[in-house]
Amino acid sequence: MTLRRRMTRGLGTIGSMQRRSFLLALAALAAPASGNATPAVALPRIAAVPGGVARVDLGPADTPPQVTVDGRRVLVMRPARDWSALVGIPLAARPGSTLALQVADAAGSREIAVRVQPKRYATQQLKVAPKHVQLSPEDLARHEREREHLLQVLQHWSDAPPSTLRLRTPVPGRRSSSFGLRRVFNGEARNPHSGMDIAAPVGTPVAAAAAGAVIDTGEYFFNGNTVIVDHGQGFLTLYCHLDAIGAASGARLAAGEPIGTVGATGRVTGPHLHFSVYLNATAVDPALFLPAATTG
Ligand SMILES: [Zn+2]
Repeated sequence: MTLRRRMTRGLGTIGSMQRRSFLLALAALAAPASGNATPAVALPRIAAVPGGVARVDLGPADTPPQVTVDGRRVLVMRPARDWSALVGIPLAARPGSTLALQVADAAGSREIAVRVQPKRYATQQLKVAPKHVQLSPEDLARHEREREHLLQVLQHWSDAPPSTLRLRTPVPGRRSSSFGLRRVFNGEARNPHSGMDIAAPVGTPVAAAAAGAVIDTGEYFFNGNTVIVDHGQGFLTLYCHLDAIGAASGARLAAGEPIGTVGATGRVTGPHLHFSVYLNATAVDPALFLPAATTG
């Protein structure tokens, strides 16, 4: 209830969408006059590393440039006078390699190369009984179906820009620093860990990390009960292993509004929230978007 109030405070009955375009219009108006506009959107910490976020200057333009990388739309924003692209860099990107951004604006089309800076992630070797890593044909088929579905959901694009790129902590608790950790089971490499795990007791409320719209909910083999929220322009957050899902697909949420409770559903060893952040359908380090960790 408090959250609803926060959303509308000072804005009367103006909806969040109108409010957003109103604020952006204000920012646009302020830019030429002051020559040094107040940032309309708070930025994440920038690091052009695998699993990080690159900020690419796109120069001035009257209308937002359209940017893609690997055929996927990229978030563009105007933190000051000029436009910037915020590009999620895949964990699998090799340091020293380049990502090719395709930029289209009123001036035409161009390509901008983003060089990937080095970053090392830990590797964990695990030896376990084969039955713990081999899926039955039924489970494997289910997982394949769900993987396809989730890949589709993560490509979701909405034109409205996010109101912020700074996230609030979805649940208080001890955070793992295991984003990017590569796990090798019995010599077989798995996908690196694509999020942050936050330890909390079963039933602890989980809050939306920013305002947005629920674009998917479901009970998945690995992820358990899951909610995915779109914050605008491919900036998505994903909440997994929930005990209960507390938000319906299609619902619009204010920042901090409950989306469910912490649980241990899916393939997990204990209760925690798995929290992932996506830009251009690419998992990036949630720590870049959150306030500095507190112990607890
Ligand atoms: Zn996790």
